[in-house]
Amino acid sequence: MATIGFVGLGNMGGGMAANLAKAGHDVRAFDLAQAALDRAKAAGCLPVSSAAEAAADAEFIVTMLPAGTHVRAVYESEIFAAAPATALLLDCSTIDVASAKAVGGAASAKGLAMVDAPVSGGIAAANAGTLTFMVGGSAEHFARAEPILSQMGKAVIHAGPIGSGQAAKIANNMLLGATMVATCEAFVLAQKLGLDPQTFFDISSKASGQSWSMTSYCPVPGVGPETPADRDYEGGFATALMLKDLKLAVEAAQGVGASVPMGGHAESLYQAFANLGAGGKDFSAIIKLLDGSYKA
Ligand code: NAD
Repeated sequence: MATIGFVGLGNMGGGMAANLAKAGHDVRAFDLAQAALDRAKAAGCLPVSSAAEAAADAEFIVTMLPAGTHVRAVYESEIFAAAPATALLLDCSTIDVASAKAVGGAASAKGLAMVDAPVSGGIAAANAGTLTFMVGGSAEHFARAEPILSQMGKAVIHAGPIGSGQAAKIANNMLLGATMVATCEAFVLAQKLGLDPQTFFDISSKASGQSWSMTSYCPVPGVGPETPADRDYEGGFATALMLKDLKLAVEAAQGVGASVPMGGHAESLYQAFANLGAGGKDFSAIIKLLDGSYKA
């Protein structure tokens, strides 16, 4: 079993650190919030008083932080100086590709091994240990990361060199945002043309309009498998997080000159929805913006 430093014990990191402790690792956990430290302690982690203390003597250091600014600050001000030369650094946060490459490059310049390993799957998957990890880093670093990430997830995929995990994550989530908007539009159109939503689902889920947003995450209550739509769009993947990922995708596209008109349009729609106060609602609730039924 390994000694693991874990920094960022929020909605996602809390469950992930708990799964590492459950697997028998010695997990030294740090978060700025006392409540998060208390939850980590109850889950079998050892709370410590700084990111540097979490990193000292660790074989693996995992971070699960809100955004690129937090990741840059925590690595540059604490982890790089405190981590043993033999440690593997794993950043599982969703951040901009430029920050992932910058932090990975800085680690490499200091002789430290690092991967970016953002996740697909929400809070329930983090708690259940069924996340999907998309990993950027060398083949050697991926091989070292894989056994640790497997204890928090059901799939661990090597995407390419450092930064590639973030690239895969935001390209995937841009596709998800665009297909969700398109799926919602199709249901609104079908219904206004007189089709029953269940009938449209039965047809489209077996026809060429089929997608994950349709068959696994249907935005219409009472249609398809149980989804956040059946719980008044509570839980699931928040509109604010989808908006964050779409912004990262559009920003990355601008940086490399990629044309992403559908992603850009999905970003504008999710921004408009968030502006109505719907940032906490599941992202499939955007159907209510399109059919005009959303009440702030
Ligand atoms: P969160 O806000 O619940 O947790 C972040 C935690 O980081 C907080 O507990 C905060 O106190 C802590 N933190 C911030 N700065 C810190 C610092 N300097 N030192 C130590 N701790 C610090 O966020 P979350 O939902 O757990 O998301 C974490 C990451 O995972 C984000 O990048 C997010 O985009 C990504 N993600 C989230 C989901 C989801 O469904 N929530 C799904 C996939 C990916």
